[in-house]
Amino acid sequence: MSTLSALTTQLAALETAHLYRRRRVQDAPAQPHGNSDGRAVLNFCSNDYLGLANHPDLIAALQLGAARWGVGSGAAHLVSGHTSAHHALETELAAFTGYERALLFSTGYMANLGILTALTQRGDRIAADRLNHASLLDGAQLAQATLRRYPHADLTILRQRLLTEPPPRLIATDGVFSMDGDLAPLPALMELAQDAGAWVVIDDAHALGVVGTGGRGSLAQFGMRPAATTILMGTLGKAFGTFGAFVAGADAVIETLIQRARSYIYTTAMPPALAEATRVSLRLAMQEDWRREQLRALIAQFRHGATQLGLPLADSVTPIQPLLVGSSELALAWSQALEQAGIFVSAIRPPTVPVGTARLRITLSAAHSPADVNRLLEVLGAQFAQRHREGAAPEK
Ligand SMILES: *Cc1c(COP(=O)(O)O)cnc(C)c1O
Repeated sequence: MSTLSALTTQLAALETAHLYRRRRVQDAPAQPHGNSDGRAVLNFCSNDYLGLANHPDLIAALQLGAARWGVGSGAAHLVSGHTSAHHALETELAAFTGYERALLFSTGYMANLGILTALTQRGDRIAADRLNHASLLDGAQLAQATLRRYPHADLTILRQRLLTEPPPRLIATDGVFSMDGDLAPLPALMELAQDAGAWVVIDDAHALGVVGTGGRGSLAQFGMRPAATTILMGTLGKAFGTFGAFVAGADAVIETLIQRARSYIYTTAMPPALAEATRVSLRLAMQEDWRREQLRALIAQFRHGATQLGLPLADSVTPIQPLLVGSSELALAWSQALEQAGIFVSAIRPPTVPVGTARLRITLSAAHSPADVNRLLEVLGAQFAQRHREGAAPEK
């Protein structure tokens, strides 16, 4: 079989298994209301939780930033790409999150690779939640560390392993789990890590700007402050509405990343104008509590309505509100039916989530209105009633 025809066969197998992925071509900014093929559509799958991605102040800051700095940074941070705009953003992110320092990365994916490869090496053990983001898994593999994954949020198992196995150098967890919307059990986890003398890496991609006082993230949500051995990864492309990521931690951690993280060293710095726009979004995210209040109200509205409809809700207090459908085929059918009704919700299937737990990943944004959520519930209700009649209701 030729090389190409082997690929074609593999692609066909994905299609048969309802695992084929396709991109939708968007023709509008990230915002709830858009147009697709001349039809009005309502988006419930963006991570623009605070509705900042298309904010006029961010657009203005990006334009002003480009006038001041041009477009490209021209080089890596360690060469000549690190500007006072990047530096100011780092200082502000450190102050916001309550760590000594912060360091910008081009993406969250690269930030996680950087943390894990700089702080662990071959033979070191990493304990990680089974539902962590793919980039934490890939980082552990790149570091050639020994990865011990524990069942989701199961600290009883983690505690047992800490008693019977060599201690991990590092424990990694999402703060808010990206496909489930639940919070990591941080108070107990931080205590376990302290006892084991391990670093804790918290990936707060879906928490910063959204949960905790002033949007300060998952530790703040539990009323906790970081320890000296806590390392935070935050992304800028979700609630902050721009692009890029950062790591916050103790001074020595940040200096270590600058010396050793290859995904930091060997890549071009983000455009300085983007750093300027992010400084504005950080200020809005901190100051405008009404965005988080609006989200809270929409989450409550959605959960109330979905419960009344008997929809298979997950246990989530965040804007990530998955409906657990079960099979990939059913998740895809639901997503397509919603799309026909003008509502975008993505079907999340293996390997992004475990086999048998395919879901519709609904995300809410402060830019949604109560009427938008009502419309979503109306369409979900009609779909659910129809599938119920057909005997193909999702398992609860
Ligand atoms: C989105 C995401 C990332 C990756 O961030 P990017 O900036 O998009 O590369 C990492 N971790 C989690 C939990 C995420 O949701």
